[in-house]
Amino acid sequence: MNLLDGKHVSAKIKEDIKQEAAELTTKLGRKPHLVAILVGHDGGSETYVASKMRNCEQVGFESTNLHYEADITEEALLSKITEINQDPSVDGLIVQLPLPKHIDPEKVTEAIDYRKDVDGFHPINLGRMQRNLPCFIPATPYGILLMLEHYQIDTSGKKAVIIGRSNIVGSPMSILLARNANPGNCTVTLTHSRTTNLAQEVQDADIIVAAIGKKNFVTADMVKEGAIVIDVGINREVSDLTKSGYKLFGDVDFEAVAPKSSWITPVPGGVGLMTIVGLLKNTLEAAKGTFYTK
Ligand code: NAD
Repeated sequence: MNLLDGKHVSAKIKEDIKQEAAELTTKLGRKPHLVAILVGHDGGSETYVASKMRNCEQVGFESTNLHYEADITEEALLSKITEINQDPSVDGLIVQLPLPKHIDPEKVTEAIDYRKDVDGFHPINLGRMQRNLPCFIPATPYGILLMLEHYQIDTSGKKAVIIGRSNIVGSPMSILLARNANPGNCTVTLTHSRTTNLAQEVQDADIIVAAIGKKNFVTADMVKEGAIVIDVGINREVSDLTKSGYKLFGDVDFEAVAPKSSWITPVPGGVGLMTIVGLLKNTLEAAKGTFYTK
């Protein structure tokens, strides 16, 4: 078993981003700038946004966290997004999900200017991604691709089974691994809550991507000897043993599955750190104007 070490890879890529950001700051006369909108007080979301802001600082970006109470109206939120879309000092804009029930996440996603959509959730970016055109790729699948690339893992011709079909992880991951690209060129099966014989599907996989949100969902009997296992799940449990007061678990039973796998991501220390890198890289590209003219 080899570890797909998010700590090591993310640190290395962040160094490169930092250097590029410094050069770009000289060129533009300002730092690359990410704005994150957070609504309400979901513990996980607050932690993720704080971490994104901290990481921006580490690589020399400017970051702004706009935090609104959960009772903000949809109209007020959409109008704030329009304002930021028009602000030339902002390169990237993300709205942390989930949103309170009275706000339609689809409306919010489509309201963000696709040229600032560094989360890669806008239908224009999604469509361009499917067509293999330059675009912002959703941060988590992008981070996974960067990890596979770093370890020079050959995915071509492999059977990949994705568990979970969310708009932010499972679905884009299935598109990316099926594309005629490297990493890519897989034969992809996208499984979800209505899949029959899920265990059987997973047992055939050379590459497993688990993005469900259920601790220890993927057990050793579901994994083929030598499989590459990518665990996206983040399941928080209250714990007296950690300083933060909670402990993180993936969707994969790591202890049992690791000995059977050829490569595996740990949780924490795997995909989560790479997701941040995906976001930072997208923000840098937005500031450079790599994909779209502003
Ligand atoms: P989600 O929570 O929106 O949806 C879960 C998906 O799992 C659905 O598509 C559903 O069909 C599928 N599913 C649920 N039960 C299933 C079952 N019994 N069998 C098969 N499929 C089943 O998905 P999400 O937003 O992609 O989140 C999934 C997990 O990944 C969560 O733990 C989340 O916290 C984590 N996550 C981690 C990162 C990261 O950076 N590491 C990023 C995003 C999400």
